[in-house]
Amino acid sequence: MQTFYMRTYGCQMNELDTETMAGILEKRGLVQVEDENQADLLIFNTCSIRDLAERKAMGKIGQICRGKKREKIIGVTGCMANAKKEALFRNLPHIDFVLGTNNIHDLEHVLDEILATGEKQIRIDDQFSKELDYRIAKRQDKYKAYISIIRGCDKFCTYCVVPYTRGPEVSRDPEKIIEEAKELVDQGYQEITLLGQNVNSYGKDQPDWNCLFHDLLYRLDKIEGLKRVRFLTSHPVDITRELMEAIGSLPSLCEHVHFPLQAGSSRILKKMHRIYTKEEYMEKVILLKELVPGVALGTDMIIGFPTETEEEFQETLDAMKEIRYDNGFFYTYSPRKGTPAKRWADDIPEEVKHERHQRVLALHNEIAGEKMREKLGETVEVLVEKRSSKDERYLRGLTRCWRHVLFEGDDNLIGQLINVTLHSLSHHTFIGDVKALRESLPHPTS
Ligand code: SF4
Repeated sequence: MQTFYMRTYGCQMNELDTETMAGILEKRGLVQVEDENQADLLIFNTCSIRDLAERKAMGKIGQICRGKKREKIIGVTGCMANAKKEALFRNLPHIDFVLGTNNIHDLEHVLDEILATGEKQIRIDDQFSKELDYRIAKRQDKYKAYISIIRGCDKFCTYCVVPYTRGPEVSRDPEKIIEEAKELVDQGYQEITLLGQNVNSYGKDQPDWNCLFHDLLYRLDKIEGLKRVRFLTSHPVDITRELMEAIGSLPSLCEHVHFPLQAGSSRILKKMHRIYTKEEYMEKVILLKELVPGVALGTDMIIGFPTETEEEFQETLDAMKEIRYDNGFFYTYSPRKGTPAKRWADDIPEEVKHERHQRVLALHNEIAGEKMREKLGETVEVLVEKRSSKDERYLRGLTRCWRHVLFEGDDNLIGQLINVTLHSLSHHTFIGDVKALRESLPHPTS
């Protein structure tokens, strides 16, 4: 085995898991290749959150398996491994191993067993218990990095497979997180994103640590040279006043909060087991906007949840008009095996889901477009990421509020934080002019 190919489906947690597995394999002397045909080892890091993601991965792996040469090793990792377990060997007879989300540390051992015995291997633990050394991760980006701070979820929303595939919440030792962040800063990283299925539950499973999510943010902010911190993803119930105050006061913390509402009707929220009402959610949004002026908000919405009436869907649209999200991910409901919602009739016809989805997208695009136009003329901090692949005249960067900006400039700006004045729009991307290096502007919320 000399070369490996990896393909990632799904969320940022999976991206970090892929980077970690790639680091483990490179340490073992393997070389990563982009062409699946050139690889001796192929790993598909899968997602189960939506039916479409699962079908895409199954289709691709099935296609690769059909042309498999005997000497290749093929593995399935990620949430689909936890959800389907041994059944994957029946559905995809040519795969050699199945490795769950809590078993990444077993990768080398599994490969050794296959090479020694030629037998198929499976490792699926229900709970994440082993401290993974993420420092081995082969980072895809030179200036932005993910740090895992908590794995699993205890919330049990009725439509979601995550508590069953990733297991209960397990927070990571704050000392390890701080150490990793310091190392990343020393390596030149400007921005870190703290990852977890429910990141703001951090520390609740370890009361002895006396370090809740906002405490961790204060500690990270003290790291010299750490310019930006983001976090993904949050549960509204765990967005506390203390967390909002941290966002409003810590210079490193970006003023962008993913605050997933999921539905605008309290009856549907109850059926989803989201454990908040629309009114409670709205109160938090009002407080957040008060404590963090100019905060950008993101959401996820599920359209066509079982029994959702037209009036209840209208409540989703009304909430969107009131809150005015900057970004959103809008999905039509699809039942997931093993979840409580799977037992209910998926009773909203697909054409109705589709039509509601289109209305949500149209409204979101209108509101997000308006909010972007309101920003024109402002000068904002941008992390310069790379030259645009679509138009080489431009560099591409990311604002603190998670918007892309294009502007003309030299390659030596790449990796720096600079100030850019926004002057126009191209779809959902700002176009601007470079003004000055970041240090000449005050903190956006000060
Ligand atoms: S909070 Fe709900 S939607 Fe998010 S991962 Fe946990 S169970 Fe799934």
